[in-house]
Amino acid sequence: MREFTYTKAADAAEAVRLAAAGARYLGGGTNLVDLMREEIERPTALVDVSGLAQGITEHPDGSVEIGAATRNTAVAAHPRIRRDYPVLARAIVSGASGQIRNAATVGGNLLQRTRCPYFYDVAARCNKREPGSGCDARQGFHRTHAVLATSAHCIATHPSDMCVALVALDAQVHILGPAGARVVAVADLYRDPGETPHLETVLGPAELITAVRLPRAVDGAVSTYRKVRDRTSYAFALVSVAAVLRVVDATVADVRIALGGVASRPWRARVAERELLGAPAEPDTFKRAAEAEFRSARPLPDNAFKVSLAPRVVADVLKGLSG
Ligand code: SF4
Repeated sequence: MREFTYTKAADAAEAVRLAAAGARYLGGGTNLVDLMREEIERPTALVDVSGLAQGITEHPDGSVEIGAATRNTAVAAHPRIRRDYPVLARAIVSGASGQIRNAATVGGNLLQRTRCPYFYDVAARCNKREPGSGCDARQGFHRTHAVLATSAHCIATHPSDMCVALVALDAQVHILGPAGARVVAVADLYRDPGETPHLETVLGPAELITAVRLPRAVDGAVSTYRKVRDRTSYAFALVSVAAVLRVVDATVADVRIALGGVASRPWRARVAERELLGAPAEPDTFKRAAEAEFRSARPLPDNAFKVSLAPRVVADVLKGLSG
């Protein structure tokens, strides 16, 4: 590991000042430190933000604010999250080991890097790690890779479970940067790879995520998260589904679906949602809508199974929620 300076930020404003001068933000360190050990990331200065903005605040309008430095374990265990946002609690618990969830922060979870094996292999060609070098995944091992909104330059997936639930919940991130504060929907935080897969989010230089805000839970809705993976623990999703559903008189009155393991971002299934809204809440409808979401899929030989697996998981999750 290369030498770097370390500063523990006293507050968010100081952290932003140090980042504007070239420091990188350090949360729980569960991803960045690994990347530094492998010399994939080579920051010369770190500013530790893991002591800032911890805790969960319940607002009078029914929304819930989660400080960006809140540990994943604390979010999943919080009574209000478990009661009103079970999809989020389930998603967090399905991600990583208990030890990692104890250390990882919400902000760090949002900004973790892909687990594409070629990204971590400095001998491989990888446009995300080294722009313009190529993408060894396309001709190599790509069973776990993306099928939606991919590009010739990158087919990596976003690895988070938590973020998939946040997208289904219409959560927003609060951001502080050198130019002030702003708010962005989690669904709009990420970029598709296009020709610049090394640019993963819409965050500008030195911008810091300070909080995540969950809107008031939808009255009468039920929600859940299901993750399909090669092993039952410590594995990233082949396909995951976060869904929020409200059925009134056997008709879909409200539905929000987000998918993991299929794109470079937590994927909001808007095509399926449009097909479902106002339709009968029955298995055939769920199946047709889920399949419609994947009409634009561009799989490669080894990950083509996701195009049939994902709709089946979506349809089964919706069937379970509607029952
Ligand atoms: Fe790199 Fe993306 Fe290709 Fe993986 S899929 S090797 S992250 S460019």
